[in-house]
Amino acid sequence: MAIISSGGKASADPSSAGGAGLSPVAPVSARLVDPAPLDAADHPERVDGLRPRRLDDYIGQKDLKQVLGIAIEATRSRNEALDHVLLYGPPGLGKTTMALVLAEELGVRCRITSAPALERPRDIVGLLVNLQPRDVLFIDEIHRLNRVAEEILYPAMEDFRLDLTVGQGTTARTRSVPLVPFTLVGATTKAGSLSSPLRDRFGLIQRLEFYDLVDLQAIVERAAVLLGLDLRREAALEVARRCRGTPRIANRLLRRVRDVAWVRGGDGHGCIDGALVEEALQLHRVDGRGLDASDRRLLHLLLEQYGGGPVGLETLAAGLGEDAATLETVVEPFLLQMGFLQRTPRGRMVTEAGRAHMGWPGESGP
Ligand code: ADP
Repeated sequence: MAIISSGGKASADPSSAGGAGLSPVAPVSARLVDPAPLDAADHPERVDGLRPRRLDDYIGQKDLKQVLGIAIEATRSRNEALDHVLLYGPPGLGKTTMALVLAEELGVRCRITSAPALERPRDIVGLLVNLQPRDVLFIDEIHRLNRVAEEILYPAMEDFRLDLTVGQGTTARTRSVPLVPFTLVGATTKAGSLSSPLRDRFGLIQRLEFYDLVDLQAIVERAAVLLGLDLRREAALEVARRCRGTPRIANRLLRRVRDVAWVRGGDGHGCIDGALVEEALQLHRVDGRGLDASDRRLLHLLLEQYGGGPVGLETLAAGLGEDAATLETVVEPFLLQMGFLQRTPRGRMVTEAGRAHMGWPGESGP
């Protein structure tokens, strides 16, 4: 089977892709198609006993569930592949989980990968040719796909077809290889960084929101049952209050609380109350509103060195020794959501609520 060669480093470089075609490629053999990618079950980091498997177990995100629930039902009745889905929002809100839920509901496999793993054309070609009809292909951090990979995806998404260049120079010709119908689920924390041709090829584009307290409490209580913990309601609420609206953090905090309960109770089966949660989360420097050490460092730097701002993102990142992208996608969204930070055209500023939370005098003095 003639497929595609990475042609050494050149074709992995997006800048070498040139116009609409692929970078120069040589005729190659099947050996250049990577072996079948891994299923969710082969990804230990993705296998998480706390993940909901069905749509009914997926707590919160009412709009998202409604839209996807209808799409699943319609797709099932037509016996087709679900339209391509783009999920965007801060990390830990349930994008990967939803891709797995979609596959489970549709009774198909979910192939999981992330854009940085698709650096060479053959990576993505290998994935696509190994799909089975109606499979879900989940690509995390899809905004990081390089141009060559994107161009391979366009006809694959639109017409279930691969357009490959076979041969070199004057003998080069394009060959179309049919693909089975499949569903691409793309996840990104930065929807704005996605190229518009790629974004336009998704039939369903959905934003995931931070969870409210009621949903977070339900998530914590569900996780406590799965972990075999005797967690009081007030303790679940306390974890929910401090998890930055994010299920992944709720689960992480709950595990830290479990550690403390284990040590205090001796056998780990003691009842966990609000005081124990307080003690455990203080130990991990998570405050009453869920701010952790990184959040407080950012606010503190802004207040102490820049009078509360405005300060540019790069300056803040340099001051904190953090990567600007991490600050922007991981730290800031929650501070913005809490109303502790403001993004202005001149830079980031601490709000009055942020000052009050940090115990800092107001702008006009104490
Ligand atoms: P993302 O892909 O958006 O970074 P994940 O899908 O990996 O987030 O979710 C992180 C963890 O949070 C999951 O392992 C799962 O246990 C939990 N989780 C996410 N969404 C929900 C939900 N709606 N209900 C219950 N648990 C959830």
